Amino acid sequence: MSDALQSSPLAAIRARIAAAEKAAGRVPGSVTLVAVSKTQPWDHIAPVLAADQRVFGENRVQEAMERWTPHRDGVALHLIGPLQTNKVREAVGFFDVIETVDREKLARALADEIDKQGKAPRLYVQVNIGQEPQKAGVAPAEADAFIALCRALGLTIEGLMCIPPAEDDPAPHFAALRKIAARNGIERLSMGMSDDFEVAIAEGATSVRVGSAIFGSRRYPPA
Ligand SMILES: *Cc1c(COP(=O)(O)O)cnc(C)c1O
Repeated sequence: MSDALQSSPLAAIRARIAAAEKAAGRVPGSVTLVAVSKTQPWDHIAPVLAADQRVFGENRVQEAMERWTPHRDGVALHLIGPLQTNKVREAVGFFDVIETVDREKLARALADEIDKQGKAPRLYVQVNIGQEPQKAGVAPAEADAFIALCRALGLTIEGLMCIPPAEDDPAPHFAALRKIAARNGIERLSMGMSDDFEVAIAEGATSVRVGSAIFGSRRYPPA
């Protein structure tokens, strides 16, 4: 690796993930870095792709398709933002992973569309772990029943995803998500962002979603 790459924000995040895996007694390389490229201009993304980052997160279907269609080969794309049922057809066709399954209507639409396309993205259920009214996700108390419903519809739920309340210590929220996963026989946990991914790794995250710490702060509205 060149000096320039070693000193890049991406290299620094990779090193911090490796250190957090080690500190937690986790298997080296067991945590996947999902680089959150939403709103970023392509000139911020190209060097990260060139440094062999192959997993990216986006929060809007349309924006992701515009950004990634020309660069789709060999890249795994995760949808990490809310999914409306009128976008399910495109999302199933385009994404490798949908992390935001959070209500019955959406689960039914996904089951129908997966049937039609004969192609299934990997699915995560989003849990509103801090029970915040403005946030998406199933309530923690309803998670077991919702996972059971998804399975009854024929969906394979690979993981759980959460975004803890910004003002709280995230550790207990991550631990709560891990417990929901364990009692439902679910092995993958998408938790931790730029400010708390090391805590998430200590609590069992199998993937972390890091945006601004890699790409710099986002511009709203997108440039
Ligand atoms: C934007 C976003 C991230 C990345 O946030 P950073 O703080 O920039 O790392 C992670 N997860 C979700 C669901 C997001 O919407």
